[in-house]
Amino acid sequence: MNRVYNFSAGPAVLPEEVLKEAADEMLDYAGTGMSVMEMSHRSDRFQRILDEAEQDLRDLMKIPEEYAVLFLQGGASQQFAAIPMNLMQNRVADYIVTGQWAKKASEEAKKYGTVNILASSADRTYSYIPDCSDLPVSEKADYVYICENNTIYGTKFSSLPNTKGKILVSDISSCFLSEPVDVTKYGLLFGGVQKNIGPAGTVIVIIRKDLIRDEVLEKTPTMLHYKIQAEAGSLYNTPPAYGIYICGKVFRWLKRMGGLENMKQYNEKKAAVLYRYLDESRLFSPTVQGKDRSLMNVPFVTGNKELDGKFIKEAEQAGLKSLKGHRSVGGMRASIYNAMPIEGVEALVAFMKNFEKENGD
Ligand code: PLP
Repeated sequence: MNRVYNFSAGPAVLPEEVLKEAADEMLDYAGTGMSVMEMSHRSDRFQRILDEAEQDLRDLMKIPEEYAVLFLQGGASQQFAAIPMNLMQNRVADYIVTGQWAKKASEEAKKYGTVNILASSADRTYSYIPDCSDLPVSEKADYVYICENNTIYGTKFSSLPNTKGKILVSDISSCFLSEPVDVTKYGLLFGGVQKNIGPAGTVIVIIRKDLIRDEVLEKTPTMLHYKIQAEAGSLYNTPPAYGIYICGKVFRWLKRMGGLENMKQYNEKKAAVLYRYLDESRLFSPTVQGKDRSLMNVPFVTGNKELDGKFIKEAEQAGLKSLKGHRSVGGMRASIYNAMPIEGVEALVAFMKNFEKENGD
């Protein structure tokens, strides 16, 4: 076996011990003689997997009783439609556009009502988070929407926007469980799990119970109706059962790691190794500055496309995988999610230093 350091933005690296446990249990889960993949989702055994996963997530994020946790399908993008369908009572919503994912979400919402863009950082390729302390929040807005960590551009909200009393909805796909959050500040949080938690396709929605309503937009598909999903305990239809099982294992791994406070410290330490080098390098430049920097996704460039290509190719050969940046930013991006060990970041920096020595002027 030859594991590589995988810097992919998602699907992404998962904890090795979780993958090993899952492999060990593949043919015979807990003495059942079958894989979780083969197990009825209506069985007591699967119900226990689901209940434990929810409880562990509640413990990790300190999710209060007033919030429901839903394990759904369709990835994060499906929620771009589900959110307006369930929450747009006045058919007005405000979006802060800090990257392509927020833009896509706002465009989807436009199909259902009026969307106001409160702020955007498109003017500088989404390389910063706009000032959100005094936004022109719409009087009739049903919610204010953000993408909290911008996977492509490597920015993160260091403080939440002032929504002037409106409900905050946040896409936390690429910072899920990377640090503690105060759930009570949000009406709804959601994230695809394929970056920090598990297999693609599963999406977790954490929603304040009073926002789970009978009245949703007309013709909302049954599968996207939060009330129906909540009343069925995420089992309206066959859920992404294997995905939920892996999520549960990652939640338990995070508990063994000491929870989200410890994870934050570890993630800060890892990111500091990379940012410190980027700030002093004469060859590589970070594309994001200061407090807007993400702990999870770190884009950087040399300013020379050919050299970027050479770097990515040689890094691949050295076992440092998936460092190519998104086409809208160019250059490189190192995604250093929870499961990326500090040794991986150190190996990357050592490789970059060597590359700089050989290719710098
Ligand atoms: N939101 C963010 C912040 C993402 O990074 C991504 C995907 O990479 C998505 C949404 C879309 O997720 P999905 O592919 O699960 O729909």
